Amino acid sequence: MKKKITESIRTQYEQSASREHSVPLYLTSSFTFENAEQGRALFADEIEGNIYSRFSNPNTTEFVKKMAVLEKTDDGFAFATGMAAVFAGFAALLQSGDHIVATRSLFGSSHQILLKILPKWGINFTYVEATDTSGWEEAITKNTKMFFVETPSNPGLDVVDMSYAQELKEKYNLILCVDNTFATPVLQTPVDFGADLILHSATKYIDGQGRMLGGVIVGRQELIDEIRFFARQTGPSLSPFNAWIFCKSLETLDLRMEKHCENALLLAKAVDGHKQIETIKYPGLKTHPQYEQAKKQMKLGGGIVTFNIKGGYDSAKKFVDALQMISVCANLGDTRTIVTHPSSTTHSKLTKEEQERVSIFPGLIRASVGLEDIEDIKQDIFQALDRV
Ligand code: PLP
Repeated sequence: MKKKITESIRTQYEQSASREHSVPLYLTSSFTFENAEQGRALFADEIEGNIYSRFSNPNTTEFVKKMAVLEKTDDGFAFATGMAAVFAGFAALLQSGDHIVATRSLFGSSHQILLKILPKWGINFTYVEATDTSGWEEAITKNTKMFFVETPSNPGLDVVDMSYAQELKEKYNLILCVDNTFATPVLQTPVDFGADLILHSATKYIDGQGRMLGGVIVGRQELIDEIRFFARQTGPSLSPFNAWIFCKSLETLDLRMEKHCENALLLAKAVDGHKQIETIKYPGLKTHPQYEQAKKQMKLGGGIVTFNIKGGYDSAKKFVDALQMISVCANLGDTRTIVTHPSSTTHSKLTKEEQERVSIFPGLIRASVGLEDIEDIKQDIFQALDRV
């Protein structure tokens, strides 16, 4: 049997009559029917085939197939953004009266969906602490249908105990849904821990070059069938162009992740103990509170390093403004190193108390370590720290 990386690289949409080697971009909204009967049969789901690009398109199909191979699961659906994928996972599978248990350390917009959007339709949730399993079982009620986790979390880098999540999911027959954006399938395959659904913001490492938005959910066939029905009717589908780019990017994901992880570990080690830094967090450093857990479920520590600068917001602001090469923006997972100040940007919709509960302090910096020479990355970080 081929290694999954080989299989994913070699998974391609079927060749056209032109015998192209690289899959072309299928910029078409519709696909023609051979005759009236074929159109009827396609709509009746009696035969498989492309109808309309909101439903499927050769490029999105190829992207989903590559992702399903990497995540070792059945099937999937590709979305216009990561958030569309998160929302569809909830909206397609849950109904009024259902309950979600979620780890508290979630990406800001996932938190807002749970807090402000799903309750409008009678779907409620309970948070459990991502790194303290003691309250998890208690949070499950007779209406709980889904256990939603993000690991490692954005930006706190909390690592969730996936073996225990699997134990509870099996005991209470829950849908275990994992946001695997930070780890990517190169570093972690949640299916090995019983995940039923795995989702990604493809905007991050899957694109890897900060060009476009996208999302994907892969998982068990019967769940994906429901998600596909939801998405076909409501229209959050990924564009063929973005899917085409993601497919090309996926062919180098493995290589890129190894280099991101290598640079991130070197940066974390270099910054650890610096006089301007209060705390530093990286899942591949022994000082990370869940280092042992991370080793059990992740191949390497990932491309994100976070640190708290002494002096809170004023110092963080000085640090950010002193950077010379490193980009300052809200994205991550790019070839270029990016620094973000979560409490004033990506997670600013959380109250101060909510921020603190997920370790977002005014001095917190999230560094998405890129593929530049590590000496240049370190040099810029250190000169900016010196000016705090
Ligand atoms: N999940 C995680 C862990 C994220 O970091 C993000 C974005 O930063 C998302 C979901 C949302 O993805 P998108 O911005 O593609 O909608």
